[in-house]
Amino acid sequence: MRALLLAAALAAPTGSLAAQTPRDTTAAVIRAGRLFDSETGTFGAGREILVRAGRIVAVGDKVDHPAGARLIDLSRYTVMPGLIDAHTHLLYLEGVTGGLTMEGVKALVNEGLPLRTLHGAARARTFLEAGITTVRDLGNSGRFGDVALRDAIEDGSVDGPRMIVSGPGLSSVGGQFPGLKPGYEAIAGDEYQIVHNAAEAADLVRQNVTFGAQVIKIYSNNTPNVGFLSSDEIRAIVAAARIHGVKVAAHATDDAAVYRAADAGVNSIEHAYRVADSTLALMARNGVTLVPTDIDSVTLVQYMTISNRGGPPPTPDQIQRFMASQRDRLMRAVKAGVTITAGSDNYLDLHWPQGSAARRNLFAYRAAGMTAAQVLQAATINDARLLGMEGRLGVIKAGAWADLVAVDGDPERDFGAIERVRFVMKAGTVYVGR
Ligand SMILES: [Zn+2]
Repeated sequence: MRALLLAAALAAPTGSLAAQTPRDTTAAVIRAGRLFDSETGTFGAGREILVRAGRIVAVGDKVDHPAGARLIDLSRYTVMPGLIDAHTHLLYLEGVTGGLTMEGVKALVNEGLPLRTLHGAARARTFLEAGITTVRDLGNSGRFGDVALRDAIEDGSVDGPRMIVSGPGLSSVGGQFPGLKPGYEAIAGDEYQIVHNAAEAADLVRQNVTFGAQVIKIYSNNTPNVGFLSSDEIRAIVAAARIHGVKVAAHATDDAAVYRAADAGVNSIEHAYRVADSTLALMARNGVTLVPTDIDSVTLVQYMTISNRGGPPPTPDQIQRFMASQRDRLMRAVKAGVTITAGSDNYLDLHWPQGSAARRNLFAYRAAGMTAAQVLQAATINDARLLGMEGRLGVIKAGAWADLVAVDGDPERDFGAIERVRFVMKAGTVYVGR
């Protein structure tokens, strides 16, 4: 018994991010032409970064050059913390013309969990190549396929971003599969944890954490379906999550759903496509983060072109109207003092590598009027705080994981530079630009 206790005391906590042994074990000195400081939102010139054993050891005009350290010259580039995407679904990709019910059921019964997980592994690599070194993956991964993929990435079997995963999201009956007939609703239970009352909701939190979840995903409303979780159910979920030390992310697309979740104490609201100023004020007061999951005009055109199946392309007026409503909501949230974080929710097959498609989310914030520095802060330090990884992710300073991305150009003058990724390091291992 004593041996067991000792083993438990020495073991890393479950689901921790401890298992990040770098494959590149030599110390490295990185010379950065420009460096983005996410804490101040400013760009500095001519810095050096010393990396050892997967961590950043020092940052300055000049750092120690230990004997045998590898010199990585990025003096022509802008170096930023590895980007974070706080809302992904690596095990789910939907044909644009399909629709969530049919595509969701297909993923469960035709694709199946083993193949979904392997497909997720292939998508994971594209995130790393896009400079996204961490994702918070929020469900639609069957019964814990996300946990398997996270573990395979952590043990080095698969190249991908560091994953913070939720397991299946907690939803009312039917999940996000509208139109299920009585007698067939159980299929939703293979993709979601179905909540019937507050006591059960708390137990489902315990189950998810037991099976490897590091964050709890809930559906305050389960659009495109018609159900919702009650305030009592969300409060029970938040209380159970706090006991386990995990945060709660709430899908909420209309004002009532956002209000219910924010009032019950969740940590982040996902989407909030329709939200009142008074509800945004409540979010700011309660420290509830917004993950807007907006799309930019290039993505919108691609989406509409594919979904039109060769029909007429979208008119500039259609695009303008859509972009204006997104922009209005995002800037009202900024004005209300709500913390904005970056999350793509890009689960559509746009015929692009999934990681680059997800990164276009940042162009939506930029086009809406956030500065380049604010957008990059959303995708680095703000996301890191939301993930509970402040000081370890989203910053380039001593003690943080050596997650670095170098891009060709100056994102302040030309935001498109963030697509010209020349170098990616995650936990001291170089994946792009070796
Ligand atoms: Zn989502």
